[in-house]
Amino acid sequence: MNNREKSIDPASLKMIAKAYSENVEICWDRYEAQQPQCGFGELGTCCRNCLQGPCRINPFGEPKTGICGASADTIVARNLLRSVTGGAATHVDHAFEAVEILQMAAEGSVPYDIKDEVKLYAIAAQLGIDGDGKDKYALAKELTQVIFADFGPSGGETMKYLLAMAPAERVEAWRSLGILPKSPDQEIRRSLHESTMGVDADPVNLLLNTAKMGLVDCYSGLKLGTDIQDIVFGTPAPVKSEANLGVLERDKVNIVVHGHVPFLSEKIVEWARRLEPEAIAAGAAGIQLAGLCCTGNEVLMRQGVAPAGNYLSQELALISGATDLIVVDVQCIMPSLPQVASCYHTRVVTTHAIGKIPGAEHIPFEPETADEDAARIVRMGIEAFARRDKAKIDIPSDKSEIWGGFSVEAIVGALATLDADNPLKPLVDNIAAGNILGAVGIVGCNNTRFTQDKVIVGLAKELLRQNVLLVVTGCAAHALGKAGLMNPDGAKKYAGHGLSAVLTAVGEAAGLGGPLPPVLHMGSCVDNARIGDLLAALADYLGVAIKDLPAAASAPELNHEKALSIGTWAVDLGLLTHIGMAPNVLGSPLVTKVLTEDLESLVGGKFYVEPDPVQAAEVIVSHIKAKRAALGI
Ligand code: SF4
Ligand code: SF4
Repeated sequence: MNNREKSIDPASLKMIAKAYSENVEICWDRYEAQQPQCGFGELGTCCRNCLQGPCRINPFGEPKTGICGASADTIVARNLLRSVTGGAATHVDHAFEAVEILQMAAEGSVPYDIKDEVKLYAIAAQLGIDGDGKDKYALAKELTQVIFADFGPSGGETMKYLLAMAPAERVEAWRSLGILPKSPDQEIRRSLHESTMGVDADPVNLLLNTAKMGLVDCYSGLKLGTDIQDIVFGTPAPVKSEANLGVLERDKVNIVVHGHVPFLSEKIVEWARRLEPEAIAAGAAGIQLAGLCCTGNEVLMRQGVAPAGNYLSQELALISGATDLIVVDVQCIMPSLPQVASCYHTRVVTTHAIGKIPGAEHIPFEPETADEDAARIVRMGIEAFARRDKAKIDIPSDKSEIWGGFSVEAIVGALATLDADNPLKPLVDNIAAGNILGAVGIVGCNNTRFTQDKVIVGLAKELLRQNVLLVVTGCAAHALGKAGLMNPDGAKKYAGHGLSAVLTAVGEAAGLGGPLPPVLHMGSCVDNARIGDLLAALADYLGVAIKDLPAAASAPELNHEKALSIGTWAVDLGLLTHIGMAPNVLGSPLVTKVLTEDLESLVGGKFYVEPDPVQAAEVIVSHIKAKRAALGI
């Protein structure tokens, strides 16, 4: 694998070359060391669910079953359910912590407040809680109790948050399939039980429960987490920043926040601002904060913190020699970071009780002591600045202007400048007129199997050229920001004529002084819920189901179990969901067929696998055109 195959990002390529010149091992070396990867694992036909195993099914001959008699279909379906459950569990755990913090904020026991009262009252009303005459803290306490009840004994009832937030048409579709979830904790427990040795051997039953786990992911994870974080930290509004490793600054203390949850990183932002004088006293020009992965997206969306890069850039931020401290919370954090950091002066700080890494310094983050914890970590970064090896510093100059902060509220707000009474009308009119062909959410990860960002950026350019509006989240958003598709110039350069005209009209009416970016950054992975909300609003306006909209989803370079659980929810919503590679299911023709064909007749959506971005764009555009034709537009 030569370096050109590793990334299309010039900053990454420079840092990869620097790593090799300094003999630092990075993820692409470990990827090569893993080749060839196990074919049984690739196909999903390896089972380690009991100590008689591992059992491996040979798709071309014998053995055809594991020792217990499990077939390839059973093993593949069980493995998939476990992966999707793992993905859902991360988001549910994240959202639960957010609800706990809201509860403590309402009680006044933590240094957080309620920043978006409007959203608090709106969410409470959707859950049937009367906010009249209640102050925001009393209402927030009541809201958290209603949400916590979802996590308790269900008594056979469906999750209340789902019933309150999901489109009624979808709820009925899911009810008819018997996949409406009860308590999320119960469902996660149940799916682990179901997929253990000697329980469920029926691949179709396992797949239906996998579809159910997609709903758990969204309505007890993505949607819940996003709503509560908006209440506590504020709902994002458009904000200008810059993206890529070039945001690191030679003369400043560089502190990089990484992971997924904003509870500590919001405080780091606050304390980095407050402790600037200490950094200056230490000889720095100030403190530069930068973000990686979805913690990076969270602090971009609400604070304008510059994103330094996505999943495959995390080691490269350290290779620059300019990162003084990297502080991490949970998910997508390479355990190699302390090893890479040991070649430089960089301090690696873990903060979460379930996210420790040998070789890192651990500062346990507690909401009650959030200020003290954040101040301590920022001061550790200032201290590290003094120990820099200047000879090892080489910051790539590459960075692009980006706009983030496009919550649904922000998008509707921008559209309202064209039609205050009926903000969705200009969007729908332009879709009907064909100026906007349709909309696609491009989301998800990087993956060493792909050239970093190549499929994401290639797909986005093809879709924009054909007037498809793009909303993005996660590491895909980083990729598109770095590549220059997330600023007004990107509209002129990449959007087709019709889309470009609409973006210009909306951007100018909204006072942005130019077009809206052609790629609207809606946030982190949990913020995929915002894409669901936007689609639900459009479907509601048109009086159709989400599955009938000229829309699709795509995770071009997926890697994490979370991408599978989010993708499962997208399919549940009724969306054609493109993925750049097949998950480990190809060892079961039955499972493969259900995921890529049969699900469409059940929920309206299905998975579509295609690694080539141009080919994928062609199929997605055909799908959008077919949906338009069915709507008579
Ligand atoms: S559960 Fe069955 S297939 Fe899996 S390891 Fe045990 S015996 Fe083998
Ligand atoms: S998009 Fe994927 S790789 Fe990136 S932070 Fe999210 S889960 Fe991790």
